[in-house]
Amino acid sequence: MINIGVLGSTGSVGRQTLEIARKYKDKIKVKLLGASKLSDNLINQIKEFNPDYVYVELGESQIIGSTKIIAGEENLDFLKDVDLDLFIIAIAGVKGIKPTYILLESGKKIATANKEAIICLGELEKENYKNLIPIDSEHSAIFQIIDRRPLDDVRRIVLTASGGPFLNLPIEDFEKVTIQQALNHPRWSMGKKISVDSATLLNKGFEVIEAHYLFGLPYEKIDVVVHPESIIHGMVEYIDGSVISNLSYPDMKIPISYAIFYPERKQLNNNFLDFTKIKNLTFLPPDNEKFPLLNFAIECGKIGGMYPTVLTVADEVAVNLFLQGKIKFLDIYGIIKEVVENFKVYNVKNVQQLLDFIKEVEDFTVSVAKRYGNT
Ligand code: MG
Repeated sequence: MINIGVLGSTGSVGRQTLEIARKYKDKIKVKLLGASKLSDNLINQIKEFNPDYVYVELGESQIIGSTKIIAGEENLDFLKDVDLDLFIIAIAGVKGIKPTYILLESGKKIATANKEAIICLGELEKENYKNLIPIDSEHSAIFQIIDRRPLDDVRRIVLTASGGPFLNLPIEDFEKVTIQQALNHPRWSMGKKISVDSATLLNKGFEVIEAHYLFGLPYEKIDVVVHPESIIHGMVEYIDGSVISNLSYPDMKIPISYAIFYPERKQLNNNFLDFTKIKNLTFLPPDNEKFPLLNFAIECGKIGGMYPTVLTVADEVAVNLFLQGKIKFLDIYGIIKEVVENFKVYNVKNVQQLLDFIKEVEDFTVSVAKRYGNT
C-alpha cells in the first residue's frame, strides 16, 4: 500500500491524482487532502477517501468523523509529523511555497506540480531537490529519460512547447485577446493561471528555470522548441549526438502515475499512440516578437538570485488581474517588465524572509498595475 497526501486536491492535477487513487484503490491509500477551503468538492473527496488529515487554508480546525481538519497557514507545521510514502503538491501558485518548504526541510518524499515553489525556493532549497519527483509533464519527461543518473554526458535538454492558443494569431490581434480565448488551450486541460501562462509562453520560461533548479543544468544546456502536436514532451541530447525523447498523447495522469509508482509503471487507459494517425511531428522556433516573456524569463533565470521570484510573483498578480477583467492581455507583459526592472531586489536567507519578499513584490506589482487597464 502506498500512503499518499494530496495538497491542492480540488485543482486539476489534484483531481487527476485522485482518479488514479480511485483506479488503484488496492494499491494507494489517500491519507491527507488539502485545498483552499472546505468546499463541496473537498467534502465529497473526504467522504470518498476518508483521509486522516485535511488541510484547509481558510476556515476552522475541527474533527469530522475520523478526519482531523487543520485550518490556517500558520498551522502548516503539522505536516512535519505526518508520515506518508509520498506527498503530492498540486497547489497552484506561490501559495505552494510554504508547504513545499516544510516538506522538503523535514525530509519528506514529495512529487510536485508546483513550479512556482520550485522556482522561488530554488536558491534556498536546490540541494533538497535531488529526491523530488517532478509532475510538470516536460520535467517528468526529462526525469523519465535521465532518471537520477549523472548528467556529465548530456549535451542539452529540450523542453517542448505546444505554442498555446495564440501560436497562429497575428501579432496585431493580441491587443483584443479575451479571457476566454486565453483559457482555451489547444492541447492540455489545466487550471486558469497556468493556461494564461501558456498563452503568453511565460509558462515555458518558468519551465526552463524549473529545469535549471531541478536538474542542476546551466541555462545554456536547456532549449525550448515549439511542437504544436504535443506528442513529444521532452528530449535529452547526449554528447555523442544521440537524442532520447519521451512521447505520449498529452495526459497529466501519466506523469502523476509515474511519480506515485516510480520506478514502476501502471496501466492508465487505452490511449496508446497511433503513429500512422499522427503522421507528422513538427517543430518551430519560438516567436520572440509575439511571445517576449519566454526570453524575458530566461534572462531573469540567468541573472539568478531573487529575479526568478520577482518574475513569478509579478506574473501571478498580473494574471489574476487579467482573469478579473481588470487589465488587458498585453498588459501582463508590460506590468511584469516594469516590476522586474524597478523592484529593489535584495537577497533572502530563510523562508520567512522569502515570504515577506513575495508580499513586497505583490504590493509593488499592484501599485504598478494601477497605471494599466482600468484598475
Ligand atoms: Mg508543463
